[in-house]
Amino acid sequence: MEWQDPSYRPATDAVRAGQHQFVDDQHSEALVLTSSYTFDDAHDAAEKFAERRPGNVYVRFTNPTVRAFEERIAALEGAQDAVGTSSGMAAYMAISLALLRQGDHVLLAEGVFGTTTTLYLKYLQKFGIATTILKVTDNAAWSSAIRAETKMLLVESPTNPLMQIADVRFLAQLSRSHGALLVVDNTVCTPIFQLPLAMGADMVVHSAGKYIDGQGRCGGGVVAGDAGAISAVRGVLRVTGPSLSPFNAWIFLKSLETLPIRMYAHSARAGEVSRWLQSRDDIEAVHFCGSPAHPQAGLIAAQQSGHGGLLSFELAGGKRAAWEFINSLRLVSITTNIGDTKSMVTHPATTTHGRLTEEGKLAAGIKPNLVRLSVGLEDLRDIVDDLDQALAAARGARYAGV
Ligand SMILES: *Cc1c(COP(=O)(O)O)cnc(C)c1O
Repeated sequence: MEWQDPSYRPATDAVRAGQHQFVDDQHSEALVLTSSYTFDDAHDAAEKFAERRPGNVYVRFTNPTVRAFEERIAALEGAQDAVGTSSGMAAYMAISLALLRQGDHVLLAEGVFGTTTTLYLKYLQKFGIATTILKVTDNAAWSSAIRAETKMLLVESPTNPLMQIADVRFLAQLSRSHGALLVVDNTVCTPIFQLPLAMGADMVVHSAGKYIDGQGRCGGGVVAGDAGAISAVRGVLRVTGPSLSPFNAWIFLKSLETLPIRMYAHSARAGEVSRWLQSRDDIEAVHFCGSPAHPQAGLIAAQQSGHGGLLSFELAGGKRAAWEFINSLRLVSITTNIGDTKSMVTHPATTTHGRLTEEGKLAAGIKPNLVRLSVGLEDLRDIVDDLDQALAAARGARYAGV
C-alpha cells in the first residue's frame, strides 16, 4: 500500500505514512536486512544504477525499511522528501558537503548542540567555510551579520538546556531575501509540536536517537526538505557512506507510531515538574517552554503547539548543591542524553558544556548551579518524589557545609 493521501492528521501519519508491504501481506512494517538487490536484467541494473529508474541498488543508498522511515518523517514534517543518516551529526555533515562550498559563510546560533559548533568551527573552517556565532534571540544581530557569501543559517529551537527560542519566521524571511537556506534542528519539539518548514524554513534536521526513538536504543538522524535539496544530501551519503542502518530505521519507524502520544505525555509531565519546581524556594530559576514566565512566551505560542519534556533549573547553593542533588537521585538516571522514556539528569557546566571557558559558560548562561532534566514517562508522582528527596539532600549538604 502506498501512502498517498495527504488528508490524514499527524497522529495517523505517525502510524501509517510510509507503510509498504514487502513480504506476504505483513501488517507491521518489515525489517529488510539485505545489502544488495537483484535486477530483472542488465538493462534494469543499468537504469537503476544511473537513477533513471526507481528501485533498490545497494544498502549504502537504498533500503525499503529506511525508505519507509524517510516517507513517514516527510509526511510528519510536511516535507517533499526526507533522507536518513547514521546520526544527527552525519546529517549536518551531509547537508554541509551538499550545499556549501569554499568561500561560503554560515550563521550559527549560540547554544546549539556543542558538536554542531565544533563541526563548523574546527572542520568546515579548514575547507574555507566561515562561521559566525550569534545569540539565537537577537534578530537584529542576524540581520546585520548576514552578507553576500552567507549561504546557510542554522538554529535549534528551543535550544537546550536554556530553552531559548529562534524566531523562525523572521529568520526564514531574512535568509530567503539573501538567497540563503534556513536549517532548523527540530530534535527537541519534534514535528508533533513544531513544523519549521510551514514557517518558511528550508530544511529540518533531527537527531533521531532522541524523541523519535524515544527509548534510548539507537543512533540516527534525518533531514527533511524540498526534493532537490534532499536529493543533493542523498548524493553525499551515497558517496561518503554515513547512511542510516536498516535496523535502526526499523526501530525509529515503529517508535514514530507512538511519537504523538509520547510527546503529549512528556510535555504534560514536564509542565507539572516545572510548576512544582517553580513553587520551591530552593530553586532560583526554571527554564521551560511551557512556563508562563518564559521571556519569549508569545513567540513560543506562535511557533509551538506543545513544549516537550526538556527543562532546566538553577538550584540555590551553586555547583555543590547541583552535584549533591544529582548524586542523591535514586530513580532519575545520570546521563547526557535527552528524549528517553526514562527521566535523565545532566550537569551541563561540567559535561555537555565542559569544554567552554568559565567566561564562555557565563556568557552562554550555563551557570554552575544549572541542572538539565529530560522528563521521562515514569509516574509523575515517582519523578517528583525523587526530585524532592534529592533536593532535600542537596539542601542538607548546603547547611552542613559539605
Ligand atoms: C543529540 C543532538 C545532535 C547530534 O545528534 P547525534 O545523533 O548524537 O549525532 C544534534 N542536535 C541536537 C539538538 C541534539 O540533541
